[in-house]
Amino acid sequence: MTPTPDSQNDPLARPLQLVPGVGPQRLKLLQRCGLKTVLDAANYFPYRHEDRSEITYIRSLADGEAATVHGIVDSIASRVTRSRKRIVQVGIRDATGVIYGVWFNQPWMQDKFREGRKVLFTGKVQLDPFPSMANPQVEFLPDDFSPDEYEGAVVPVYRLTEDISPMVMRKIIHAALDAALPHIREYLPSKVLAQYHLIDLPEAYRVIHAWQCPAGQLTQEHLARARRRLVMDEFFVITMGLLMKRARTVQLPYSIAHKPPGDLVRAFISRLPFSLTAAQKRVLREIKDDLLAPHPMNRLLHGDVGSGKTVVALTAMLIAVEGGYQAAIMAPTEVLARQHHKTIRALLDGLTVPVRILTGTTRGAERKEVLAALRSGEPGIAIGTHALIQAGVGMPRLGLAVIDEQHKFGVMQRNRLRDQAEQTDVLVMTATPIPRSLALTVYGDLSVSKIDELPAGRRPVHTYVVREDLLPRVWQFVRKQVRQGRQAFVVYPLIDESDTMPLKPATVMFEHLRDTVFPDLRIGLIHGRMAAPDKEDAMRAFARGETNVLVCTTVIEVGIDVPNATVMVVEEAQRFGLAQLHQLRGRIGRGGHESYCILIDQTTEEQQARTAGRTPRQGELLELYANSRLAALARTNDGFEIAEDDLRLRGPGEFFGIEQTGLPALHIADLIRDEEELKLARHLAETLLQYRNQLTAETRAGIRERLRRAFGSNIRGVDAG
Ligand code: ADP
Ligand code: MG
Repeated sequence: MTPTPDSQNDPLARPLQLVPGVGPQRLKLLQRCGLKTVLDAANYFPYRHEDRSEITYIRSLADGEAATVHGIVDSIASRVTRSRKRIVQVGIRDATGVIYGVWFNQPWMQDKFREGRKVLFTGKVQLDPFPSMANPQVEFLPDDFSPDEYEGAVVPVYRLTEDISPMVMRKIIHAALDAALPHIREYLPSKVLAQYHLIDLPEAYRVIHAWQCPAGQLTQEHLARARRRLVMDEFFVITMGLLMKRARTVQLPYSIAHKPPGDLVRAFISRLPFSLTAAQKRVLREIKDDLLAPHPMNRLLHGDVGSGKTVVALTAMLIAVEGGYQAAIMAPTEVLARQHHKTIRALLDGLTVPVRILTGTTRGAERKEVLAALRSGEPGIAIGTHALIQAGVGMPRLGLAVIDEQHKFGVMQRNRLRDQAEQTDVLVMTATPIPRSLALTVYGDLSVSKIDELPAGRRPVHTYVVREDLLPRVWQFVRKQVRQGRQAFVVYPLIDESDTMPLKPATVMFEHLRDTVFPDLRIGLIHGRMAAPDKEDAMRAFARGETNVLVCTTVIEVGIDVPNATVMVVEEAQRFGLAQLHQLRGRIGRGGHESYCILIDQTTEEQQARTAGRTPRQGELLELYANSRLAALARTNDGFEIAEDDLRLRGPGEFFGIEQTGLPALHIADLIRDEEELKLARHLAETLLQYRNQLTAETRAGIRERLRRAFGSNIRGVDAG
């Protein structure tokens, strides 16, 4: 067995400051793009390529066409329009005319230009009322630049932070490639490459970055093949990693023997204040069959918010308990763990089942007592957070582990609830609707049960997307609902250091709402930075109806059950993902009353127009507003539809926090667009795994190295192959 790679010796992990041309200043900018190592830079793929084979004379520009022009900065102006938009306008001149670059609400653009500098503008041309480009790509050129020596036909375009020019970025990436490429090796056998029409991995890197490629090699077709190879690389690594992990788990002994449900389970179900939906019953049967089978369960329980997963999971836990085992449920947050504790205790009222809770704040004598009980192996239910899987917690008779809201944990932690030495039955619950392609990847090793039916009497939440200037009316509406005895959530974006500051931090808005907007109402506050007992107090007060309005961040995203809350106002809703908003919205509409979700979209008209790829014309601003990204939420209550939209719009990283799953990030692969490649990669991984004895030692070593690089220490066991 090869020793674990030491990142200090891994040439691909070399820090970027060792790359020529990267000083402390640039290093900071690169870090802002998330780039630290030479490999990061090599994996910083261009988001598009521009064909700049021609620089067009300004007089020859055609309306509506994408073009590159070369000129000398001639005028720099900024003004404020009647509708209070700030516009920066920079004119550049060539031998034939003048064209203006136009930027909306980006005042800093003005400071970037000096009269007399040579620049390139690339963008879409608008000739009327005068030649202009909205938001063109800008490249500043050396003073002795002449259009004849322009760098070439196909140019990779990278996402940039403000202060780094495209040309500098290309230079840095190329310098990093110099360092990285000799160490990026093809690991697939050449027969496989030929069979699937895949190009060599190092070549794919060269082509995609347009680096050391003869100009003729950079046709669209070449670029497409390069991209495909890189996509396959990312998908292959993920699926191979998961398959190997599963192969290894399956080899572990499994000795749990659950018993068929008996009096306890029957009593529990008959005492429920409702009858289970058909979907709940079907899913329960699937789970029961799995539990009774002589192999471990690895099942994903999937259902929209409010579909009743908790009751199902609890029933499964009771089966385990009745058969003499311990059962545990792990939640991603303290608040949610406590909520589960409360719900579960209420549901079990009158039945004698020990229920214990262990979280990070369980201390002292209580902690000792809980730990002792868990270690005794006495059948019962343990509820907790991460604390449950920390060292020192043992549950020798653990027969079923339920993991709630799985994506917050990561696939690699799934098995940690029990000693690695033996397998246990695992049920993973999630309310996040997972698009099929993603399910295939992230949950590739699970079977899936789906609750596709809401309990009777649930009503869809009325959802509206409105502009900020309607806020006074929104508050009026909240007040009206409160007068009718209802309660409201007002949600603000998460305060997160890595994030840009929200315009309206929850803490500040809490004071504003309490003192100015609703001085006559009782306002509560809950956010992630509060101490756990304070959170608990705020939650309890709201649940008991002691506060009318709860100002909060996304800590309420999951699991909070207050049926009397009928209104949710989300400010700066444009900062959230659609799936996340859908989750949030699931907190209301749980009682018998009509419920309303009001999304305040502070996206400016200019930003919306820019997303739509053009400059807004007067009079069409309102219409654009209706095209808000958030409109999907107003249109449907179907979480799956929304999830697909979200994935398409935001990509898997943001959508899912894929980095939290413990899986390697996707830099170029797109889970929707590249579904074919995903299937192919999975097939390839399965095949190679199946015939691994026929692979050469070199191939095996290559795959192993690639997986190590991707998973790091997370992939214990992969090298078993
Ligand atoms: P989820 O965890 O899927 O979001 P919960 O399990 O929290 O949903 O259930 C939401 C609410 O619906 C809870 O108050 C629960 O008691 C209730 N509930 C669950 N199943 C049913 C059912 N079959 N009929 C009516 N209410 C139900
Ligand atoms: Mg729940």
